[in-house]
Amino acid sequence: AVHLIWFRNDLRIQDNLALYHACKDDSAQVIAIYIATPKQWRQHNMSPRQCHFIYQHLQQLHISLNKLNISLIYQEVDYFKDAISTIELYCQKYQVTDIFFNQQYEWNEQQRDHKVIQLLHRKNIQCHFFDDAVLISPNHIVTANGSMYRVFTPFQRRYHQYFLQNALKIVDQPNLRHQQQLPLQQSELIRPFNYPLEANHFFPVGETQALQLLDKFCREDVEDYLNLRDLPAINGTSQLSAYLTIGILSPRQCLAKLQSEHPRFLDFSRSGAYGWFCQLVWREFYYHLLARYPKLSKNLPFIDWTKYIVWRNNQSDFIAWQNGLTGYPIVDAAMRQLKQTGWMHNRLRLITASFLVKDLLIDWRWGETYFMSQLIDGNLAANNGGWQWSASTGTDAAPYFRIFNPTTQGQRFDPKGKFIRQYLPELAQVPDKYIHQPHVWAKQQQIKLDYPTPIITHSQARLNTLNAYNDAKSR
Ligand code: FAD
Repeated sequence: AVHLIWFRNDLRIQDNLALYHACKDDSAQVIAIYIATPKQWRQHNMSPRQCHFIYQHLQQLHISLNKLNISLIYQEVDYFKDAISTIELYCQKYQVTDIFFNQQYEWNEQQRDHKVIQLLHRKNIQCHFFDDAVLISPNHIVTANGSMYRVFTPFQRRYHQYFLQNALKIVDQPNLRHQQQLPLQQSELIRPFNYPLEANHFFPVGETQALQLLDKFCREDVEDYLNLRDLPAINGTSQLSAYLTIGILSPRQCLAKLQSEHPRFLDFSRSGAYGWFCQLVWREFYYHLLARYPKLSKNLPFIDWTKYIVWRNNQSDFIAWQNGLTGYPIVDAAMRQLKQTGWMHNRLRLITASFLVKDLLIDWRWGETYFMSQLIDGNLAANNGGWQWSASTGTDAAPYFRIFNPTTQGQRFDPKGKFIRQYLPELAQVPDKYIHQPHVWAKQQQIKLDYPTPIITHSQARLNTLNAYNDAKSR
């Protein structure tokens, strides 16, 4: 037998279901392939930082597979449709009998996989695919009538029950294989993708490094998670999203580590460990929704009437928001964090998304696209989920009349402006008391700051937004 494993968003050798199953038969010849699709990535707005992160991890994967005696073929094509032909070609070339891959839940990815499965079926090649990117398969957590949960809390309760009753299964990394490696051509070796690549300086590269971060977080930090997770000046969250997004870590590894450090976390729903478990379940919720509702991959809101909202879509406001020049310090510091690091704290994602949609009345899809183009952890499920939650267009989203006040959000979550000062050096001389309203202080002092006055008045913007949503709803 010849087994081909097709790596995508699962660039690791430990606890990788497709790799594990491809290697189960000791006598099979195992080959691996990775196919870069830069033009498709561009359509999906992949950020140059994420692309570079993938590239670096692909190099690491190549080394790890080499040590197991498994050859990794690299190919670059334009679109997913070309990837299908590449797979067909290699199946023919090496007389592949079985192909193994881990599922992706986005619409284009699913369409690609359906086509591959059909094609290979006709050629009598067995397809083995796995729900590896989630803790539980989207088909398993459904309501009594078989539909997907639309509300998070009952969905989360099902996860709680499931893990009370079922042990978490982690699979081992494969053993060294006794097989000849392939004589690969120059054109089959990994090279930088034909896509803008931008190095990140904040997330260490490597599967081992990611596991170490997970280990440290579960041992030392998770207990304080609920107290600290909303404070952007403190590293109170795991910062593992970039690894989870491209599959350097699996969610099972996260939960297993949590369980080994806090074996009874399910009994203590007010603990930090339980709080972190719930975030992993939010991640699942959005993947399951994406798998069930193709419209989420197609730029459509979950709640139908919200498509009638008439957006202001002011271009210069949008540019001010992107560049951190709105005159609201917490929003601006957050947007600069995103631009400079490719990551943004969750509380700040909520604040900046709310500001774009409900203060500036700009279409949430503009924000969603911009975030994707910058985030190192960008993925459609969580990004779309987060934006639709913030814009009140999604399932179990914030009610539309709940509108964050960006000034009080800043006062609450960054009281002394410690985070703000990190990214807005132009506010260094502003006293703590005024850090959330520097224009008020500047006026009092009769000085001119090198920082804009607010581009919009929140109280007025709030009323406009309520009107826009009410009008859309009553159409
Ligand atoms: P932790 O607090 O340590 O949480 C652990 C893990 O749980 C995260 O790594 C992540 O995988 C998952 N998680 C946590 N919160 C959420 C959530 N609300 N939704 C889904 N998964 C969650 N997350 C992404 O991974 N990619 C995105 O593109 C993304 N875009 C977002 C856009 C908006 C507007 C909002 C409001 C949220 C978005 N999130 C996204 C969710 C969340 O902000 C990040 O997952 C989190 O900030 C990552 O930091 P962390 O790893 O320290 O998280």
